[in-house]
Amino acid sequence: MAQHWAKAPMPRDQIALFSPTLDDAISEDHPVRLFDEILRALDWAAWIVPCGEHSGRPPIHPRILAGIILYGLMQRIRSSRMLEYMCGHNLDFLWLAEGHRPDHSTLSGFRKESRQALKDLFRRVGRLAMGMGLMPNKQGGHAANYTPLAATDVSSDWIVDCEVVADPNEHAETLPTVDRIAETFGEKPQAFSADTAHGTGENLAGMEARGVTFYTPMESSLPQPGNPACREDPSQPVAEADWPKLPRNPQKQLDKSCFVYEEEADRYRCPMGRTLEFVGMEKDTRNGQKVEVRLDRSASCENCPLSTECRAPKARRNRTIHRDVYEPLREAMAARMQTPEGKAGYAPRMHGAETPFARAKGVLGVRQFLLRGLENVRTEWRWVCTALNMKKLLGAVAALRARLARWIAEPAS
Ligand code: SF4
Repeated sequence: MAQHWAKAPMPRDQIALFSPTLDDAISEDHPVRLFDEILRALDWAAWIVPCGEHSGRPPIHPRILAGIILYGLMQRIRSSRMLEYMCGHNLDFLWLAEGHRPDHSTLSGFRKESRQALKDLFRRVGRLAMGMGLMPNKQGGHAANYTPLAATDVSSDWIVDCEVVADPNEHAETLPTVDRIAETFGEKPQAFSADTAHGTGENLAGMEARGVTFYTPMESSLPQPGNPACREDPSQPVAEADWPKLPRNPQKQLDKSCFVYEEEADRYRCPMGRTLEFVGMEKDTRNGQKVEVRLDRSASCENCPLSTECRAPKARRNRTIHRDVYEPLREAMAARMQTPEGKAGYAPRMHGAETPFARAKGVLGVRQFLLRGLENVRTEWRWVCTALNMKKLLGAVAALRARLARWIAEPAS
């Protein structure tokens, strides 16, 4: 589509009042030059639809408007009024904007209305970094109730996905995050680590279905070493002296981890060595989702000396154990997290999970959202994450240039 962009009011080679040219006012090694070069290397086709062709005053190219917002974020300037001021008074901004002076309402409107195109920009910046080998591939004040999320490639600290959810429960976003990363980079992550909140049955099953190795802390519901229920012969009762050491649940009753599951017989044994048999299935709601839960009940709890500690005070039925369809996956995850491979897979999570937020606060000075409304906050967070990635890209390109310059000056003998 032919475009009709506004001509630069102050071309860089025009002789100005107090400097030969605007271009002369910016040193050759000024970071804004590299930033502009990166912006120009990106494809802005996705922004043409929102800008469109229309009669009247030609619009400013989105590369310039996006550049002002992102460069402003990198200089810790977020206010559209301050950006307007900088475009009129600061040489970096004047140079970057080629003399355009968009007013604050243009900048603020552009920032809010470019949601879809911004997703494309975030994706393109990510792909550019991947193409440069910055990320190894397979072979190598408002909205306090919103939760910003960021997924990072832990080997490079590159933000590979960002989202904002209205719900403080982030687990529903785990699988969509993996799918968006696969869509952005054309390949799914090989491994994914997330904190305990993400370890729901649906997420375990979803990761397995996608072939992604998942690492998330998981407590086993089976007796573990140190638990007296973990005994050689589960058909024998736990020694009376060890009864006080049997784990209790929050209701102060014997925990499910006091019951041994016998896989071959597909049944549980209680601490008294008695069997619990399958009595049926029921539907339950877990993490907001309906799941099938299997019930195993002790055939007899009569005359059991542990009865008051095992059964609810007013329970008429024998002790029942619930086992949902995801239990085998949870057990497999608990076992994986005990292995050196599981521990090594999860170890970088803390750094990777906190870095984007620490950088947003420390580097960009972003401590709260300026906008209201979920969609506006999402867009604002995507601007922040794009600026953080651009800053990394800028540093990497500058380092490569410096290396090349050194190599040219002192070629290997
Ligand atoms: S109350 Fe029933 S299930 Fe619990 S330990 Fe006693 S016999 Fe076993």
